[in-house]
Amino acid sequence: MVNGEKKILIVGAHPDDAEYGAGGFLQMFGKALICVVFPMGRADEARAGADELGADCAVMDFDAENARERALIENLDEIIGRFKPNVICTHSLTGVHQDHRLVARSVISACRAFTGMVLFFGTPSDHPFAANLFVELTDAQFEKKLTALRKHKSQANRPYMQSQALHTHFNYWNEAYQGKSGRWVEPFVLHRNVIRRTG
Ligand SMILES: [Zn+2]
Repeated sequence: MVNGEKKILIVGAHPDDAEYGAGGFLQMFGKALICVVFPMGRADEARAGADELGADCAVMDFDAENARERALIENLDEIIGRFKPNVICTHSLTGVHQDHRLVARSVISACRAFTGMVLFFGTPSDHPFAANLFVELTDAQFEKKLTALRKHKSQANRPYMQSQALHTHFNYWNEAYQGKSGRWVEPFVLHRNVIRRTG
């Protein structure tokens, strides 16, 4: 897939979700926008992570305690209409985290007329996760993804942020699709795609 001139929108519930789920894939696009729905007082870390990846960052001001799905869909409609992405990534619908499921549902509604590709990315809370689309990363892309994750300094002690946990996780997905040994892979679930007629 050659994505150099194309645009990707990644919608994450919390700061660091986008980098964890699609921080490698987004580096293959000409333009990337990370949208963070619930900043939780960590907007600066979200911007630093996006910066590291050369992505723009749109921080919404929703509060997870009383977020309204309709308002979120309207915000996403506006962002999609303005940014005009070719690919949209968000959480899976099956995750255990209620914020992730709310964001996934809202993105799906906002994508009702979208003719690009919609993918679900995986984080430790987006489980169970039956990946069916695998993106191989170069070592440099994977390292940059980890550097971006480390910009989320307030999360540095979380188990999923430890270097070994990250390497184990992404190595697992490489083995899951029988990738070449030692390669890093980001897993996705294809939600929807449209092949447009040419004539
Ligand atoms: Zn999250």
